[in-house]
Amino acid sequence: MPGRGGTARPWAAALRGVLLASTTDPRAIQGGFTLLVAVDVLLRLVGGVRVGLSLPALSVVIVLLLQALTLVSRGRLSPRVVEAVLVADIAVVGLARLNPDGGSGLLVVLPALWLGRLFGRRGAAITAVATVALVAVPGLVYTGVDGIFLSRSVIIPVVATIASLAIAGGMEQVNQVMETVEHQRRVSEATLDTVDVGLVLLDGSGTYVAVNRRHDDFMALAYPAGHAGVAGQLGQVLGADRSTPLGRESMPTYRAAQGEEFDDCRIWVGDDPLTQRALSVSARSVRDEAGRFAGAALAYKDVTDFMRAMEVKDEFVASVSHELRTPLTSIVGYVQMLLEDEGLDLQTTRQLEVVDRNAQRLLRLISDLLDTAQIDTGPVGMTRTSCDLAVLVRDCVDGARPAYRAAGIRLDVSAPATLPMLLDRQRIEQVVDNLLTNAMKYSASGTEVCVTLAVEDGRAELTVADEGIGISAADRDRLFTRFFRSRDAEDRSIQGVGLGLSITRGIVEAHGGRIEVDSRLGVGSTFRVRLPIEVAVPLAR
Ligand code: ADP
Repeated sequence: MPGRGGTARPWAAALRGVLLASTTDPRAIQGGFTLLVAVDVLLRLVGGVRVGLSLPALSVVIVLLLQALTLVSRGRLSPRVVEAVLVADIAVVGLARLNPDGGSGLLVVLPALWLGRLFGRRGAAITAVATVALVAVPGLVYTGVDGIFLSRSVIIPVVATIASLAIAGGMEQVNQVMETVEHQRRVSEATLDTVDVGLVLLDGSGTYVAVNRRHDDFMALAYPAGHAGVAGQLGQVLGADRSTPLGRESMPTYRAAQGEEFDDCRIWVGDDPLTQRALSVSARSVRDEAGRFAGAALAYKDVTDFMRAMEVKDEFVASVSHELRTPLTSIVGYVQMLLEDEGLDLQTTRQLEVVDRNAQRLLRLISDLLDTAQIDTGPVGMTRTSCDLAVLVRDCVDGARPAYRAAGIRLDVSAPATLPMLLDRQRIEQVVDNLLTNAMKYSASGTEVCVTLAVEDGRAELTVADEGIGISAADRDRLFTRFFRSRDAEDRSIQGVGLGLSITRGIVEAHGGRIEVDSRLGVGSTFRVRLPIEVAVPLAR
């Protein structure tokens, strides 16, 4: 880094500054010129030229005095004085040439470059005037206009002025580019501060490079004691339950710094329930031209109001469903008792059967709504005990056989003799039943449904494959969202409300598993559930 080099080896930094014209310190600038003059004198002596008490010798003394001036002033000279020093350098070159052995006029290029670099076109004009007045004219007066002398004296101001102008033009362009860059930086900063989303930019090592104003508010809540500017710092950053602090590996910034990309990662920041905010975080990686990870951008959307509204809605749905279930259960019970009465006439029996079917439907809907609300509270709702998944799957298949027979769909099962696991038996039965019911509902008579249970990579894998209506690619992404039903399902008037698969996914994920689907429209669908066989932390409480 430039700053570090300057502290460790000042001379190296000064040399680099002089050679690359990247310093404005007069000590370094003058040092470069002094060095060149010294080398010139030395080479002359080596070449046998006698310097003695001559004008070139005087020029060396003046150069040393100028150098002393810049050192004594510790480089704190006003631009006017720096300008005067550079003009004096040109005069020194002119003085050195007033000798039969002639000093090197080429040295004038150095102050010319610096005049152009520091003072732009004005510096180039000063160079032109100074080189003509202090180098060319005295030289011609001393040597006359004969032979090579005229050419030498004219060429020096021309070359020096061109060099000075060239560097002045280059600097103008650099300044324009810098102004544009600075302007764009200010525009982007203002834009980023205007958006209502917290934004963070990390570099390749996970250090915070930029944070917009909105995110400062979230940081103040999450890190009341301050933040060190490195991804993964622990603070008041909590999980979906609003109370468990996230570990380093789960922190969005840490994950993003590891190159992970994600959407809608929900976190809560702040420990006071009154001021806590819910954030939905997305992350994308930034890559360099070679495709290597170079950093990450994170967006934090405030979803507190949405989450609160969802909570209120879930509480409402749960309490209404609960209140509805009790009277409905009693309606279903009494209707069934009435149906058992053999003295009923046929019409009354038919009407009671309609009441029974619809009451059962309502009961299923209500229990689905209650399940949805319960599963939302997370793994806490699961009670795991050791149970045999192979037996469970076979029992569910046997339970479904009568309905499949009535629908004219073959049902085939293949499962190992035994597969003991830690599961919430009732919930996993619900998963298998849901998949079996769907496979039957969305298949035509004469087709086949295959249920397979196997162990793959240390996980239990359950597949339910049908030859039914299939699901389009667009619908597949939304299949597990609540109340989603495909157009096909609606068009064919197949009964359902679109809660089964969202409940199924909730149960599978609460067991640490995953559910996915392969499907082709008109060909069939395969639902695949993977469950970890060994669970380190029992989820039951
Ligand atoms: P429901 O079946 O009550 O509508 P689900 O959540 O179980 O609700 O399913 C959601 C939607 O997914 C269904 O409406 C249907 O469009 C589609 N679906 C589910 N299973 C299948 C399947 N085996 N074949 C075709 N479509 C299916």
